[in-house]
Amino acid sequence: MKSDIGDRAGSAVVTPVPVPVPVPAAGPGPAGGPTTAPDPAEAVDWLACPGCGVLIYGKRFARDLRVCTDCGHHAAVTAPERIAQLADPDSTEFLAEPATLEDPLGFTDLRPYADRLREARRSTGLTDAVLCARVRIEGQPAVLAVLDFRFLGGSLGVAMGERLTLAAETAERLGLPLILVTSSGGARMQEGALALMQMAKTSQALAQLAGSGVLTISVIADPTYGGVAASFATLTDVIICEQGARLGFAGPRVIAETTGETLPPGFQRAEFLLAHGLVDAVVARSALRGTLAKLLSVAAVEAVSEATGEPPAGPAAAQDGRPAPGPAAEHDHWETVRLARHLGRPTTLDYARGLFDWFIELHGDRISGDCPAIVGGIGSLHGRPVLLVGHQKGHTTAELIARNFGRPTPDGYRKAARLMRLAARLGLPVLTLIDTQGAEPGVSAEEQGQAIAIAENIALMSGLPVPIIAVVTGEGGSGGALALGVADRVLALENSFYSVISPEGCAAILWRTSSAAQDAAAALGIGAKSLLRWGIADSVVPEPPGGAHADVTAALALLGGAVLDTLRVLDGLHPGDLVRLRRERFRSFGTRGPR
Ligand SMILES: [Zn+2]
Repeated sequence: MKSDIGDRAGSAVVTPVPVPVPVPAAGPGPAGGPTTAPDPAEAVDWLACPGCGVLIYGKRFARDLRVCTDCGHHAAVTAPERIAQLADPDSTEFLAEPATLEDPLGFTDLRPYADRLREARRSTGLTDAVLCARVRIEGQPAVLAVLDFRFLGGSLGVAMGERLTLAAETAERLGLPLILVTSSGGARMQEGALALMQMAKTSQALAQLAGSGVLTISVIADPTYGGVAASFATLTDVIICEQGARLGFAGPRVIAETTGETLPPGFQRAEFLLAHGLVDAVVARSALRGTLAKLLSVAAVEAVSEATGEPPAGPAAAQDGRPAPGPAAEHDHWETVRLARHLGRPTTLDYARGLFDWFIELHGDRISGDCPAIVGGIGSLHGRPVLLVGHQKGHTTAELIARNFGRPTPDGYRKAARLMRLAARLGLPVLTLIDTQGAEPGVSAEEQGQAIAIAENIALMSGLPVPIIAVVTGEGGSGGALALGVADRVLALENSFYSVISPEGCAAILWRTSSAAQDAAAALGIGAKSLLRWGIADSVVPEPPGGAHADVTAALALLGGAVLDTLRVLDGLHPGDLVRLRRERFRSFGTRGPR
């Protein structure tokens, strides 16, 4: 196992001038202080930002969490500093540090490993490269484990493996979320294959937690490489990447030297990772504590809660006391198509931002990409945590192009599946918002197994042991829609439709001209009323006069009220009954007549 810290040691752009940059192979630098000392930045009046070179007053730099306000560079922080930044004051209780094998191989390179260990302990004040503690973050309890790069490059050896495993076991025993903050060059070479085995030991500890319903979160700090990246750091429910941080298995210098290729800009950096579907979110250090607290609050909710105790903004409220419109006044079929596609209709992200108290978008399928046409995340809907997944279109041509017109690619379905599995682990209800022309007609989507991705989502949803509410908010186009549509309750907005194929597609195939789309729309019975008749939709959510785009605020409130009402109905059902009834619901299609 290579302990590869990439180009860190060579570039000297990571840490402020007064703090030595330790290199695992050479041991820590000569001038590090004990961890109980004040922030190193405070020890000097001025220091140069490693990102832009501007001079920063030391105390201000510490106050800014060691982030340069000029260029945004996130400088390294030690484990004690990180805990102090994240945890509520006086909330930290350090976990015991049990003895493990010391220098199991009696290893010596240019210096005996025993000497390097002694030196690292002296210079950092730590006993190894991880600190584990019980903490509270904005009042929310958690177990927190933080790696310290100063200690032999944050390398994973037997001590770290044992402590992380104990931290995971503590989290499971206490039912507390586990947060890992990583910065590491990889496994510790001086401990040989025993260090390699710590990857398995920590990975199985995380796997055990995944089965227990305890929320796990990684915070990737710069740099996280090698055996740490390929084990516990990336096995968590949510992977947050600190702004600018690098994550990878092999370091960029090794890759460039091995392949002779020029690496793409930003290779292995946070934004690159996000675009490639490998991390959930990129978060600035200043926002980290608040983001973690929100996610922890979700884990803290065991069952249904109505945090505010106020009635939701339902249809009646949105209509100023007037009764809600009755279900589905029968529109002209083509008028329904036109309204369902209106560019002003609220999108999934509009609902997320306007309907939820807060919403954290989670990205990526952790395999190949982050489809922009499906968005998802965790939010608080009138005080109760909900996992939201939906198709995403846009209001302008530029947005539509950026979102591929709401046509998902396979990584979109896989992202949705990943998030729905997370909901199942955490016991969160799932809300899906359907608005797509359909699946992506493209070569690469087929190469990546589009049909399989859709089929797997349908199967996954049919067995998910949490309430699922699907809402057709606009166009419900074929398999691309159904991949988010297998739910306990399906709601349809008044001006939405759900169809086996678009009217144009149907016309082109059966009428042999897409100009017959209006005829096709009528023949297909496009419209919410038809969905109700056949039981494909359980209820119709009214829209404001003129359509959802005419009064977006009212449209959001109407949907919010309908979703909360439906959630209350489903709340009383045992997971086994939910799945049984959901399967019966879909089992019956084609054997019963219209309502
Ligand atoms: Zn700077």
